[in-house]
Amino acid sequence: MNTPPINLNSSVIDDDKQKAEAFNDYFASQSNIDDSNKLLPEEDIPPDRQLSSIVFETYEVKDILQTLNVNKASGPDAISGRSRLGQIYHARIRTESSSLRDHLYQKNLESDPFCKCKQIETSEHFLLNCPIYHRTREALFVNLVGTLNIDTLLHCDPNITDIDNKNNFLNVQDYILKTKRFTK
Ligand SMILES: [Zn+2]
Repeated sequence: MNTPPINLNSSVIDDDKQKAEAFNDYFASQSNIDDSNKLLPEEDIPPDRQLSSIVFETYEVKDILQTLNVNKASGPDAISGRSRLGQIYHARIRTESSSLRDHLYQKNLESDPFCKCKQIETSEHFLLNCPIYHRTREALFVNLVGTLNIDTLLHCDPNITDIDNKNNFLNVQDYILKTKRFTK
């Protein structure tokens, strides 16, 4: 250190370590404010400026989803827009809150539960049986591992590995997207 000896409270310091500490104490003291007897400012926010509760409407979420570019590159979480949409539709089918006719019918949002093929459009019908999507199903479901039924397609197969379950889910989500059943 090339700092010359310093005079602190009429004693001369020439030891480097003591000089450094003296400077440190001095600069640290400059950013300490004595606020021990201070009061917070008066609360004078008018009542109409208060934050109301935040409500998300289904249509708003839908609007945002529709603006997603499914062909865009993945975000920092490495999940692409396309696979995220697949996950969303998959979850909706799992919770029976999708726009499959039977799901809507169960909520009194549709007058009948019938698919275009005239059978009842349940999750099982859509994923496993509907003849309209036969070719898509044939092309993708050859990749599935383990027992195939509506439970393993929507939840998981406890008898196969996590990796196989994950791959199954990706294939099911791909199927859901390729049928274009939920993208109008
Ligand atoms: Zn059908």
